[in-house]
Amino acid sequence: MKLYVVGTGPGSIEEMTAKARATIESCEVVVGYEFYIELVRELLHEKKIISTGMTREIERCKAAIDEALKGKSVCVISGGDAGVYGMAGLLLELAEPYPHLEIEVIPGVTAACSAAAVLGAPLCHDFAVISLSDRLTDWEIITKRLQSAAQGDFIISLYNPASKTRKLHLKKACEIIMHYRSPKTVCGIVRNVGRDGEKSIFLSLNELADYDADMFTTIIIGNSGTRLINGRLVTPRGYDPKCTDGSDETVSPEKPKVIAQENPERETQKADGCLRFPLFMKLVNKEVLIVGGGKVATRRARVLLDFGAAITVVSPEICRDMQEIAGSIKWIKQDFENIEKGFSLVIAATNDREVNKKIGENAKGLGIPVSVADRKEESTFWFPAIAKGNGIVAGIVSETGDHFAVKETAIKVRTVLRSQVTPHVQSLQIHSDSVGMDAGARELTHGRVIERKRMYCSD
Ligand code: SAH
Repeated sequence: MKLYVVGTGPGSIEEMTAKARATIESCEVVVGYEFYIELVRELLHEKKIISTGMTREIERCKAAIDEALKGKSVCVISGGDAGVYGMAGLLLELAEPYPHLEIEVIPGVTAACSAAAVLGAPLCHDFAVISLSDRLTDWEIITKRLQSAAQGDFIISLYNPASKTRKLHLKKACEIIMHYRSPKTVCGIVRNVGRDGEKSIFLSLNELADYDADMFTTIIIGNSGTRLINGRLVTPRGYDPKCTDGSDETVSPEKPKVIAQENPERETQKADGCLRFPLFMKLVNKEVLIVGGGKVATRRARVLLDFGAAITVVSPEICRDMQEIAGSIKWIKQDFENIEKGFSLVIAATNDREVNKKIGENAKGLGIPVSVADRKEESTFWFPAIAKGNGIVAGIVSETGDHFAVKETAIKVRTVLRSQVTPHVQSLQIHSDSVGMDAGARELTHGRVIERKRMYCSD
């Protein structure tokens, strides 16, 4: 008298483990959802088959237990892995009154793993699996889990992304995740893994929100490091492929500690791309050059004006936002040529990659700290999001270029700083936030008193 619950993998019989297949073949009775029974039909021959529709899981498990108690060898089949949103848990629960009934769980390849293999290697780092089905789980709990996984920068695999009656869940999930992760995050979508009509595509998180998924689809949302390499989705584990141990071989996973001992500076060299020391600089009346007249340049200019900088903007045109602060800046209406001496900081914020690169090199040549808006690695300093309150100034940057994480963090830090101030000031700040203005704030900037029109902008 033995009852098996067998994970049959994603689809065809070839994708099953040898043990799963042998177990099915050895049993007299096979119990399963009609769809999965059909997928393994050629293994079933003369067996007794008990199959039911999709939402009849309890009925199926009870039938299997009854057959096993009669002395038959029985297996319950469950797609993917039986223990991942599958029948194994329910079967063990329902068999609680029969402790003498031996139950063995045979694992299978779950959809996250088989979909990942189709896409490349997106699960090579910590990942979370979340089902969007609210049939048995409240949507509030699903929301909380999505938030937590996104906040923790987990790669997220979504099961049950949609059904005929749940069309908007995927969009809602993407919106939640986009609070913490860039809309450009690369995502892989796989439908019918290992079955007829298997197909896969890559979309940005933003595009995924409007994707018409169904219940045969598994989705993998990358973490902040996931990227496409030669058309495959990969989440780098963290090895440095350029690192060698003196020979031409790539460092094996077991070796990094030894290497670090041989060359203690290596870790620092490796991390150099994202190693910056936060520094607070006096900018009052210091000359700052901003090249570019668009929105990014304007946001930078507003922040720098708040810190008393004397700003020169070089750009053939300036956007409407920049025109609002034209009275507080010096505008040189021309294309960028080269940097004059005398600037304490330079911001490269044009929409031309080559020009930004040239500005970065020019500034570095002159020994002037430079922030290149579209390339962190070409910048000698990173322009932070600012959170101020109660005499504290915090500058927030992302090591990975995750603008959304920066925004989110800045909001949180502002809330913390605000909560420390006196009730009077607090109410004033809350009011000014809610209208998007620093109500009536006046500052001495550039030798003249100006109305501050906006709160600090973060990027
Ligand atoms: N026990 C199963 C999961 C059952 S939940 C497993 O371990 O894989 C059902 C969901 O799994 C589907 O809505 C889909 O998101 C995913 N899924 C299962 N099999 C799949 C397949 N062959 N291709 C794509 N997604 C699949």
